[in-house]
Amino acid sequence: MSPGAWFQPPRHLLASFLVFALAPVVALGWLGWRLLEQERALERQRARESLQSSADRIGATLARQLTEVEGRLSALAVASERQIESAASDLGNHSDDVLIVVMSPGGIDGYPTGRLLYYPVLPSAPDPPAEAFAQATAIEFRRKDPAGAAAAYRKLAGSPEPAVRAAALLGVARSLRKARNVTGALATYEDLARLGPTPVSGLPADLLAREERCALLAEVDRLPDSRREAAALYADLQGGRWRLRRAAYRFYTQEARARLAPSGDAGALDARAREQVALAGGAESLWEAWQALGRGEGAPAGRQVLRIDDRSVLLLWRSAPERMVALVAGRRFLESEWLSSVATAAGQQAVSPALTDAEGRLVAGRPPVGARAQVVRTPADTGLPWTLQVADRSPSPTRREFLTRWRLLLLGFAVMGSVVLAGGYFTLRAMSRELAAARLKSDFVGAVSHEFRTPLTALCQLAETFAQGRVADEAQRRQYYDLLLRETRRLRRLVEGLLDFGRMEGGVREYRSDPLDVGTLVRDTVADFQEEVARQGYRIELSCDEAGLRIRGDEEALRRALWNLLDNGVKYSPECLTVWVDVSRHGSELHLRVRDQGLGIADEERAQVFRKFVRGASSREAGVKGTGIGLSMVDHIVRGHRGRVTVESGPGPGSTFTVVLPLEE
Ligand code: ADP
Repeated sequence: MSPGAWFQPPRHLLASFLVFALAPVVALGWLGWRLLEQERALERQRARESLQSSADRIGATLARQLTEVEGRLSALAVASERQIESAASDLGNHSDDVLIVVMSPGGIDGYPTGRLLYYPVLPSAPDPPAEAFAQATAIEFRRKDPAGAAAAYRKLAGSPEPAVRAAALLGVARSLRKARNVTGALATYEDLARLGPTPVSGLPADLLAREERCALLAEVDRLPDSRREAAALYADLQGGRWRLRRAAYRFYTQEARARLAPSGDAGALDARAREQVALAGGAESLWEAWQALGRGEGAPAGRQVLRIDDRSVLLLWRSAPERMVALVAGRRFLESEWLSSVATAAGQQAVSPALTDAEGRLVAGRPPVGARAQVVRTPADTGLPWTLQVADRSPSPTRREFLTRWRLLLLGFAVMGSVVLAGGYFTLRAMSRELAAARLKSDFVGAVSHEFRTPLTALCQLAETFAQGRVADEAQRRQYYDLLLRETRRLRRLVEGLLDFGRMEGGVREYRSDPLDVGTLVRDTVADFQEEVARQGYRIELSCDEAGLRIRGDEEALRRALWNLLDNGVKYSPECLTVWVDVSRHGSELHLRVRDQGLGIADEERAQVFRKFVRGASSREAGVKGTGIGLSMVDHIVRGHRGRVTVESGPGPGSTFTVVLPLEE
């Protein structure tokens, strides 16, 4: 049966099978998908909760760190200068973007030393007495005699008073410049520089002298020298060498920077300097707070985030009587000292914290751009002076897991679908076979009834003829008796055949195992059959050269098998009236061949015709009557004798059935 044919029988069965088999698959698929979606949402929720707890933990850690530092500041407020210096250098070990400032009525100090670039206030230095310089000034400015003025100043330069000496050397150098004595002026500036931070005109002598040297060198076109000295001066300014007011720091920095500009090697210093300028700005605002405290205003302790020159600066301060100690910290300090440690302490989730000020500007950390999710904690939540933003930067593990699960689910459905389809296929096949068998059975019942009707009709007519005494003479009577006998035999064969078939089907047909002579068996059966069909003009040609071939078996059954084959040979050969029977030996096997020149059997039917109730299409089309059990009985009998039966139907007309049986030695 072709596969297409399996789908032929009741289509509504097929349709309902598909609906009942596929509907659960679809429903399960939908449920699975919903389940995955829910799980995904749950995981998102879990990630969000974990991020929130990370944010809380980070906020708490930062707050603790801040409180710790404030505690240290409280201790420093009453500590010695040395302790403050050492605490400041501890703090600044990892980052130089931090300083500690100490305010006292005497002024302001920054620690580590040199990190505070400018000061909001400086201790005032008294100017050298004006009368000492009166004469020299008069020579210089009124008489306009540079040589005389230089000599007068030089006299003063011998003073033991450093401030007087510094002011005098400045006068000498100025007068020599006016007298165009460049070498002398440069040498005098060098002398002046040696006086170090001695104040002259409110500025450190060495700063003034070195700046003047740079200017003079540039004036006389000794540019490389000027630039070299400007670079050193610039580095010293950024290294916080002098205590300067903001204006002086700015002015001298700009001057030195301007002389350096073409060389461009001050870039790195610039970046650092900008951070420290912001720190100095922070110190300046703390000084104002300290002043306010003096006036009884402001807070003796506090936290504040200030914006100075585009940079955020953190101020923490604590005061004790007559003193205020504060921490001024920039972005790099916050990141390296605090944020990096809280980020690693935040658990398995990869999070990155960021701090922003009240205006939402980034103070420290990584902006949460491109993060999977972020959580914000306001200063009110954390008590910190910043808004804390914590971003989740885990590489979307939930999505990966979701995809894996999705794939697994699909695989499950594929397996389930295949099982359902395979199950459906086999069920359909079995169903269609059962349906075909049922159809065959009903055909069989029809065919059997038909087979019975023919002899019964003949018997009935004969009986009527005898009953009515319509037999003309003895010859006719003889003829009628013959007919009566034939039809009765035919009926008996039919009934016995059906009974035998029933026994075979029920598995209760047992074959005897008598020694049989093949020649006799075949010859007798052929002779009986020949007699049966001679009237229709059929001839059976028997070829049995081998004598003495013996087999073991059930004579009656084997006769029936051969009879059935001969009967088919005659039935399905309407034109050629000869059927050939051929007995031969092949080794230890007997080959019994029944050949005809009739309708033949189509290729695709050849394997099927041995099954019960199966009838060939050509035989039905040709209108040949039959029940479809003849060959199945042959097959049963032959196999019951440990043999086999095959059929060949060549390209020409006709078919050959071969029964192979084991011979007795
Ligand atoms: P039946 O002859 O009653 O139909 P069988 O079991 O004897 O049943 O045969 C099954 C089918 O095999 C037949 O219907 C016929 O189509 C085919 N067949 C059997 N013998 C021959 C033959 N000798 N020539 C052609 N077709 C045959």
